[in-house]
Amino acid sequence: MTMSELQLKNALDTLKATGVRITPQRHAILEYLINSMTHPTADEIYKSLEGKFPNMSVATVYNNLRVFREAGLVKELTYGDAASRFDFVTNDHYHMICESCGKITDFHYPALKEVEQFASHVTGYKVNSHRLEVYGTCPDCLEQQNKKVL
Ligand SMILES: [Zn+2]
Ligand SMILES: [Zn+2]
Repeated sequence: MTMSELQLKNALDTLKATGVRITPQRHAILEYLINSMTHPTADEIYKSLEGKFPNMSVATVYNNLRVFREAGLVKELTYGDAASRFDFVTNDHYHMICESCGKITDFHYPALKEVEQFASHVTGYKVNSHRLEVYGTCPDCLEQQNKKVL
């Protein structure tokens, strides 16, 4: 079994355990989220699966993503007024975001527990989680920019 097959199997087991019915659409959306590293919007998921499920609407995709989020399988990343992006929850990771094309790339770094402890200490809050995003220009956009200069 490959890593992504194992992730899909575990995700389906989690859904079954929480009493969520596994429909072919839910199966396909989960599979798409696990295999895509792009942190897609609901619209992108819809567009890539509509050929397979002609009766599916964007609203259905949204509803399913909400079910996954409530089951703890998917994280919703919100950016102001822009469409939410969805990330299959694996272990803790951080995001590098391209300011030119909006691409999000995962990277791993030891969890910043000291930062959480410090923040809690100076503010008196109980910390639940944190979110770290690093902004820049992705290699593809850099390449494009270099081509324009030449
Ligand atoms: Zn880019
Ligand atoms: Zn991610």
